[in-house]
Amino acid sequence: MLLYNTLTRRKEEFVPLEEGKVGIYVCGPTVYDYPHIGHARTYIAFDVLVRYLRWKGYKVTYVVNITNVDDKIIARAKELGKDPRELADDFERIFHEDMAALGLVRADFYPRVTDHIEDIIRLVEKLVEKGYAYVSRGSVYFSVEKVKDYGKLSRQSLEDMIAGARVEVDKSKRHPMDFALWKRAKEGEKDVAWDSPWGRGRPGWHIECSAMSTKYLGETLDIHGGARDLIFPHHENEIMQVECVTEKVFVRYWLHTGFLMVGGEKMSKSLGNFITVREVLKKYPPEAFRLLVLKAHYRSPIDFTYDALEKAQRSYRRLANAAARLRAWIQEHGEGEGVEMEEERRLLEAAVEKAKEEFFEAMEDDLSTPRALASLFTLAREVQRVDLNDAGVGEAKKALEFFEEAGEILGLPLMEPEEEVSLDKVKDRLLSLASRYGVEMGKEASAEEVLEAIIALRADLRGRREYGEADKIREELSNLGITLEDKGDRTTWRFV
Ligand SMILES: [Zn+2]
Repeated sequence: MLLYNTLTRRKEEFVPLEEGKVGIYVCGPTVYDYPHIGHARTYIAFDVLVRYLRWKGYKVTYVVNITNVDDKIIARAKELGKDPRELADDFERIFHEDMAALGLVRADFYPRVTDHIEDIIRLVEKLVEKGYAYVSRGSVYFSVEKVKDYGKLSRQSLEDMIAGARVEVDKSKRHPMDFALWKRAKEGEKDVAWDSPWGRGRPGWHIECSAMSTKYLGETLDIHGGARDLIFPHHENEIMQVECVTEKVFVRYWLHTGFLMVGGEKMSKSLGNFITVREVLKKYPPEAFRLLVLKAHYRSPIDFTYDALEKAQRSYRRLANAAARLRAWIQEHGEGEGVEMEEERRLLEAAVEKAKEEFFEAMEDDLSTPRALASLFTLAREVQRVDLNDAGVGEAKKALEFFEEAGEILGLPLMEPEEEVSLDKVKDRLLSLASRYGVEMGKEASAEEVLEAIIALRADLRGRREYGEADKIREELSNLGITLEDKGDRTTWRFV
């Protein structure tokens, strides 16, 4: 299996340190607010990686940390007049609720910073002992000038970093890029401070991930992941904090997910386009959102819009309906397994084999979920097209088994009973489409009648050789989930 390693900037064959076992660490949330859909995108990507590696037979240990003490938490708590520890506990619970609602597999460990203060202090002590860190005014800083390869993950020099960052003048630091390993407690931070050899304080953000990842997964991790904005400085710093102590490679494969934009803009509170997981799941099922995420490669950017989500929901239904069709048919005719079909009657078998091959080829190629999904859509079309009575039970079962297996790997359960799909749901939009072409129909007309009128209108246009307009209508109907099929001068339609 190939994985794209950010460290080497190329796809590499994945070989875990220990045969058959994989340790994965993904940077978890700082719990001070509701998880947004950008977070969800990252965790869905790693969810699929974990599911796929387990499907391949690896024993995976999956660790996601919980940052429950941090400047942002303290600031938010102050704003709300709340205790920072309580605020963090509340949002930690909300994080788990939302991730469960998204259908994510649970990590094996969710270590909290506040439960690992001792481990963190020990790591900072080692860095001080080895001369990579220094104490200044009750805080401890990592000295970037002491190492040669600082910047190897983000591929920048110290000069680049200074030029690119808004470096605040801080007299306690020797070099502007030095970063805090331990922060001295400020006035009024008694509840979020611990004793240390350097006085009361709390850990810096970067050191916690170094301490907790190595505690649960050993000094060398197979895979470390996160959103791409963590490459610098967070992951760069994690590497230094571990490698300076262990003198071993910290991470074998660095995986980073692309950004999620909303309507072409970066999501931010000030722009008012901050969309929470809860908000999306109030309107759409988790499968629709997951499908939207998996339609893009995990390293590519995603531009989220509700239109795109609507489309993803229809795509999901297309898969679920194909699986439902097979399931219903097998239930009715399912006892006759083992009937050997003659060569020319193997209608589905070739399609299933091809879809399987393409699906796994795509997954092996750096988890190309867009290609994996494409193979499922092709098969779904085939399933809807063939007469299952001609295909036979054996073939139908094979197709269903593959849908269920792929659904398990992608975290897209295609097990739901067929959703109530009816034209009535899009009747208003059909009425407005008809009216745009000058066909006025009363509310009492059924959705089917409106659709028939639109099809007649299109036939008329085709008769007058106005193919461009006719195609536009076909396109608009397809956006509503309606597929037209022209056979001679007859046109039939299918919904979803
Ligand atoms: Zn981290």
